[in-house]
Amino acid sequence: MAFKTREGYYADLRAMRPNVFKNGHFIEDLVTDPATKGLVENEAKAYDLLQDPQYDGILKAKSSLTGNEVVRWLTLNTEGAESLKKSVEMKRFFFQQVGTCMAGICVGHNIMNVLWSVTYDIDKEKGTEYHERLKNWIINTESKGYKVAGALTDAKGDRTKSASQQENPDANVHVKEIRPDGIVVSGTKTMIAHAAACQEIFVSPGTGYKEADKDYAVAFVVPRDIEGLTIVQTDASEGRQGWDDMKYADQSSYLIFEDCFVPNERVFLCGEYEHSGDAINRFVGNYRACIGSCVAGQGDIMIGAAMLMARANGLSTKVFKDKMMDMTIISETVWSLGLGAMLAGKEHESGVFFADPKLACVNKAQAGKKYAELRQILQDIGGGIAETGCFPNYTDCMDPVIGPKVMAAIKANPAVSAETRARAARLSEWYARAGGLLAFTHGGGSPDGAKLVIRATTPYEKYAELAADIAGITEKVEDPKK
Ligand SMILES: Cc1cc2nc3c(=O)[nH]c(=O)nc-3n(C[C@H](O)[C@H](O)[C@H](O)COP(=O)(O)OP(=O)(O)OC[C@H]3O[C@@H](n4cnc5c(N)ncnc54)[C@H](O)[C@@H]3O)c2cc1C
Repeated sequence: MAFKTREGYYADLRAMRPNVFKNGHFIEDLVTDPATKGLVENEAKAYDLLQDPQYDGILKAKSSLTGNEVVRWLTLNTEGAESLKKSVEMKRFFFQQVGTCMAGICVGHNIMNVLWSVTYDIDKEKGTEYHERLKNWIINTESKGYKVAGALTDAKGDRTKSASQQENPDANVHVKEIRPDGIVVSGTKTMIAHAAACQEIFVSPGTGYKEADKDYAVAFVVPRDIEGLTIVQTDASEGRQGWDDMKYADQSSYLIFEDCFVPNERVFLCGEYEHSGDAINRFVGNYRACIGSCVAGQGDIMIGAAMLMARANGLSTKVFKDKMMDMTIISETVWSLGLGAMLAGKEHESGVFFADPKLACVNKAQAGKKYAELRQILQDIGGGIAETGCFPNYTDCMDPVIGPKVMAAIKANPAVSAETRARAARLSEWYARAGGLLAFTHGGGSPDGAKLVIRATTPYEKYAELAADIAGITEKVEDPKK
């Protein structure tokens, strides 16, 4: 089977309705517009790599539905823990290629697998036909090798109130009307990574709902340019000049649905609120197990950036071997925590595999904290120039009169050009500014959300009983009563 090329991907994007808004206008060509070209370049890189057979084992896999060889990021995780392991190997590999998140191969893929299990459960219980619809969508989409964004996070509104209690009903995506041939939806999803650069967007509940909120229990998939959807790009430091303009970008979007019609064949949950909790819980389990690959993949490049900075500064990397070792241990710790969560996971009756939720949440809690440490060590090794806002911009470096004086100040190691030191410093600063990615704190849910799962699944009282038994304590030892 011929796999999509960069040119094919560009053609997909260019054939779409311009519904991506940034800097006061709808973007005509996402591929060339300064606001989005880095984002598109990021996602396009995967299509280049698909053409190189040496990466087939990482990027391609057999479809469990058709038996055809397809892109791994659109396959069902039907080969136990091995499927998830292969998926994180692919993610770490992509991080190593673009230095940041390639969300079009990640979030939608996870939602697709989750909905495979949830639609199976609903159909079994209610005799609906969601599972068959999803199967048809997957078969069609995997043959095209699309990128699929994943939208769970609603604007939410007042955090103390449920969706139906919000003053603004559109704070959460919901069903406004059910027609014989489909549904009409409105509402806003926020912070949706790489949605603008994907061909399709999966929408799934951002939380578990009760009966009063059943209109909000909705899951569907739409083409990125569907009528009734406006995509507002978030702010990022794109559009700069020369080496200040990073080649690859990580951006997210606000998705504003206004009376958007979604045909039945693309709807996978509509009002079955009892299953919305499964949709979100299974999502965060796998996402949080996989987040170690994001930290580790980015950590690999941060170690490389630290080495470049040390050498451009005129120092041997031997000076920093302990600090580089600390960076390596952080990366490999979260990587292996994720692998552990996979090993302890289990298969759902529908055939797809889910990581162990508790270990996945432990990984997530670690990833958020440890990433900050990685960044700190990178800046420590690089010096002030690798922190934020510590050297002039490219345009001033190129000024015919002032530029040479600035470049002379940037030059350190006589064997390394000033431009190389500037480029290595911008890359390091990119991570410091979180231009690379800072999804490790809130991506995949808040750290407190992860801790709730850990608390709920840890038998603390049992541990106290076991300790008492070993210590020979026979009386009951309880928390003091107020
Ligand atoms: C870089 C990045 C990429 C992302 N990509 C995606 C994506 O591709 N798709 C997607 O769907 N989402 C994405 N997200 C969104 C992410 O899932 C959310 O940021 C996350 O779930 C937290 O939600 P929030 O930002 O609304 O924070 P909030 O829910 O407002 O949480 C803020 C703080 O308040 C606490 N809190 C919230 N509610 C309560 C309450 N009722 N009582 C007590 N404490 C409370 C939380 O624990 C947290 O500490 C991304 C986020 C980032 C940063």
